This record gives sequence, C-alpha cells and structure tokens, in this order.
Amino acid sequence: MRSVVVLGATGSIGLQTLDAAERLGLEVEGVAARRSGEELAGLADRFPRAKVAAADPDPSGIALYEDLFGDRCGWGMEALVEMAARPGCIVVNGIVGAAGLEASIAALEAGNRLALANKESLVVGGPLVMEAAGHGELIPIDSEHSALFQCLRGEQASEVERLLLTASGGPFRGRGTDALAGAGVEEALSHPTWRMGPRITIDSATLVNKGLEVIEAHFLFGLPFDRVDVVIHPQSIVHSMVEFVDGSIKAHLGPADMRIPIRYALTYPDRAEADVPRFDLTRTDLTFEPVDREAFPALDLAYAAGRGGGTLPAAFNAADEAAVEAFLAGRIGFLDIPGVIAEVLESHDRTEVTSTEAVFRADREARAAAGEAVARRMRGRKMTPS
Ligand code: MG
Repeated sequence: MRSVVVLGATGSIGLQTLDAAERLGLEVEGVAARRSGEELAGLADRFPRAKVAAADPDPSGIALYEDLFGDRCGWGMEALVEMAARPGCIVVNGIVGAAGLEASIAALEAGNRLALANKESLVVGGPLVMEAAGHGELIPIDSEHSALFQCLRGEQASEVERLLLTASGGPFRGRGTDALAGAGVEEALSHPTWRMGPRITIDSATLVNKGLEVIEAHFLFGLPFDRVDVVIHPQSIVHSMVEFVDGSIKAHLGPADMRIPIRYALTYPDRAEADVPRFDLTRTDLTFEPVDREAFPALDLAYAAGRGGGTLPAAFNAADEAAVEAFLAGRIGFLDIPGVIAEVLESHDRTEVTSTEAVFRADREARAAAGEAVARRMRGRKMTPS
C-alpha cells in the first residue's frame, strides 16, 4: 500500500485529497499547511499517525501544538521539504504560489511520485523541476494538464502536433476592454464553473491563470510555445485536447470536479470507481470560440514571458500575485492587473534559472517592481479625478 503526504492540506485541493486518500485506503503520512491554526490541528487529530508541519507557524501556537502532538510537529519550509522527501510516498503539492517550488523538487529528487497541483512550481522553476523529474514521477493535478496527460497516454511525442488548452473565459467572457475597465472585485470573484480560492479566481477572470497553464504545459510536455494553444470553452466540460500529426484530435471530457484529476494522480496508472456526479451529454452544449486577446492581454504577456524564458515566467507570476492583491484591496482597477505585469516584465533583469535562489531573487525583485507600479497607478488616479 502506498502512503501519501499532503502539502497545502487545509486548502481546497488538500482537503479533497485527504478525503480521496481515506476512500482509497491510502495511509496519510504527513499533512502540512502554511499556518498552524485550528484547521491544521484538526487534521492532526483526524490523522493521528501523520507528521504535521506548518511553513509559517504562529509563534504563540507552537507550544500548544507541541503539547498536543509532541514530536509529530515540524516548523518552517524546511519541515515541509523534509516531509516531501520521505521515501516511498505520493506527495500531493497543493501549496499556493512560488513557495511550492522547493517541496516539488525535494519530492522528485527523493524518487517519489509528485502529484502536482502547485502549477507555480513549473512556471517559476520549470527547468529545475523537469530535471528533478528524471529521479521520480510527475503527475499533474491541474485539470487541463491531467486531461492532456490522459490524452497523451500511449501516444508518441513525435506524433503530437499541438496541445489545446480549454479556458472557460471566466466571468468577463464576451466583454470588451471598455466594460472591463470598471469591473469590480465581487464580479471578478464569481467564476461561472469552478469554485476556487480568490487568487486563482481573479487569475481566471484576467486569463493569467490560462497563461500560467500554457507555461506549465510547455515544461510538462516539452512542446514549444507555438504548439500550445488556448481555446475558450464556456461549459468547462472538455478539459483540454491534443491534436496529432494525422489531424486527429483527442479530447478529455468530464464534470468540472477536481476530485477526478486528484484521484487519477493518486491511482495512476489505474482508475478507481468514484461517486462523482455524471452528466448527460444529450443535455449539454459544447461550444468553442477564440480568445479576445485585446480584452485579455495577460495571455499574450504569459506567452512572451514563456518564450523569453529564464526568470521571466517567475517575474510574470510574482507581478501578478502582487497586482491581484492590490486589486482585491481596491487599490487598482481590473485592467491595471495586466498593466502592472507588463511594466514589471519590461524592466525585469532576466537571468537563467540555475537554482532556486535565482528564482526567489527574481520573485522578490518583481514583487518590489509591481509594488512601485501599483503606487504609480494610485497616484495617477488621484491626479485625474473621474
Ligand atoms: Mg486549471
């Protein structure tokens, strides 16, 4: 029986993974989260044999945790990395953001299966992660990439023409640039088909998320950027497609339910029965349309960062995180998000991704540059009252 370690255990992917692990009869060997709050303590109770780690623990809570859970506890990112490197585990990485990179590399270098929901690992550190992947096994959880992975099973890389990632288009699909300028936080947070955390929901509205996924697919499947395309598919039923050299297209369809790719990553190469809702294809329309690249410029910014390579994708990701935070706080408008990213990429001092330090340096610099770009935009707005 295999065992599983869940990083980002208190988040949406983490909790669904833990449910799946219980149903599949997998031993939970470790649970880790960013904070050492009640939620993580609850998981430590629920899985009494699991190690417990918090990357950024609340100092006042450490003593209480150690009282309750003794030497099962570990603190700091080192503890998460150590957990990821436990031999013989499936490591599910559901950490949010570039902070997931080191744990991804550690899991693979230890020869483990890395079930990857943390797309930023590949975006910011693609060359490092793919090098480490040679020692272990990398299975994507991101729904589009799980779909591509499944479509590619049994196929030869040389016969693949292009990858087609589907995008729901988010809540603002069909709106032009003028209408987007006044888009508010609440509308941006109401995703039509998937329920997710706030950053990824805003990233879906700007298409930044799709841009990150294009970069993720490039590294994961080793195809150049001109052979990774995006098509809008509002129903989120076709999760992605692969076109082959003979003109055939394979598509992966299913309910918009993350439990399916999570379970696939845990049971691969097998499939386990699941009690997910089934849909009736006779009552479903499947439609596809091109991306409005003018209204959603973030997608082409992601392609540019991906093609530029080196630390540019890390800068893209960090600039977006900072811009989304400012948008959620009401400091900048919706269209300022791609505006800030563009400014940061323009001024970024690109280096090769030769180490995690290079990635984290780029991340810090891009965040600082994004902060300045946000401040400039706020000052500009005060000077031109509307
Ligand atoms: Mg996705």
